[in-house]
Amino acid sequence: MTEHLAPIVVIGTGLAGYNLVKELRKLAPAQPVLMITADDGRNYSKPMLSTGFGKNKTADELAMATAADMAEQLGIVIRTNTRVTHIDPKAHKVFIGEEPVAYSKLVLAWGADVIAPRVQGDAQERIFSINDLQDYSRFRTAAAGKKRVLIMGAGLIGCEYANDMKDGGFAVDVVAPCEQLMPSLLPKEAAAAVQRGLESLGVRFHLGPLVSRIERHGEGVRATLSNGEMLDADLAVSAIGLRPRLELAVKAGLQTHHGVVVNRLLETSEPDIYALGDCAEVDGLVLLYVLPLMTAARALAKTLAGEPTPVSYGVMPVTVKTPVVPVVVAPPAAGSAGQWHIDAEGNDVQAEFRDESGQLRGYALTGARVMNKVALNKALPALLP
Ligand code: FAD
Repeated sequence: MTEHLAPIVVIGTGLAGYNLVKELRKLAPAQPVLMITADDGRNYSKPMLSTGFGKNKTADELAMATAADMAEQLGIVIRTNTRVTHIDPKAHKVFIGEEPVAYSKLVLAWGADVIAPRVQGDAQERIFSINDLQDYSRFRTAAAGKKRVLIMGAGLIGCEYANDMKDGGFAVDVVAPCEQLMPSLLPKEAAAAVQRGLESLGVRFHLGPLVSRIERHGEGVRATLSNGEMLDADLAVSAIGLRPRLELAVKAGLQTHHGVVVNRLLETSEPDIYALGDCAEVDGLVLLYVLPLMTAARALAKTLAGEPTPVSYGVMPVTVKTPVVPVVVAPPAAGSAGQWHIDAEGNDVQAEFRDESGQLRGYALTGARVMNKVALNKALPALLP
């Protein structure tokens, strides 16, 4: 296939890939598109993974459409269970093993990988990460009839799973080497409100130590913490963080930093290769959330349809799905100068991060105060104006 006849190739059928192609279809109905995905290509909303236990949803129930349905709906070709192993930017080709696939334009929407925990012991296969529908399905199968879960990590995802798995009937222990929940997102007063809420449900927190060892123990696991404490559970879930996938981009000579580096047009350092979603670092920002990728998908669709359109980010608040104490947070940019101003009553916390001039630079709201987000959003400057 010659280059100009080659399709636009999109690697990844997560929210970034599918939203991009949906937007592109509105603008360029006849444009040939090939999507390639390492998973089964089912369309699902990843945020639902951390509310699925409380709602008792199977993976099949969370899936909104199969890859075949999506291919038909969008008039595209989707290759499922197919991993891209190499990119040759000069030849305008991606490789699936030995098989070359030509592209006219290439979009990287290949997401982020879970960070693997470094724990010793013989129970590695009883430690689960839940970062896609197939992980969720595997975990649910393993968890059937089980009662106790040990969660490693007290970031956003660890806290959401703690609330959800408690709602789903598990006894939950959370271990994390930090002094408070969600340390990179919340000031301590807001974190304490969420912790109190989760503890009121019965979640037990072990903050400070690391899990250093996980051994098989009967049908379950025994974790040894770095402070010597031992915890028994049926299964362990690792939620210690996500990292944009970079390996193929690095090998292909693309510029990378924390993510695949792209400019406001979502162009990588190589011609005709773009990136968006969890794998992308857009003008210095790596935002592993849905709202930024939806905004990026709309802009990139226009660019790919022939109207170069830089992406702009407005305010990007994040809702943390801990229904026992709801949270909305718009964290200040890393390294921002300023101070938190706290107004708290029980688990209802309003934390405003203001700079020296009094300008609002970020906020965290918990409990009943989440209703103030609309007013605060209006006062916050846009992230990428
Ligand atoms: P992914 O959905 O990870 O998709 C990546 C795709 O690339 C997959 O199809 C994969 O198979 C494919 N792929 C990877 N490598 C290759 C390869 N070499 N070849 C072919 N295909 C490949 N965000 C919010 O805004 N609000 C929330 O409430 C929220 N809750 C969340 C809860 C959980 C449990 C998790 C894990 C995340 C949550 N997020 C939330 C984050 C949000 O879900 C992600 O930002 C978003 O789904 C990322 O989409 P993506 O398409 O970039 O990546």
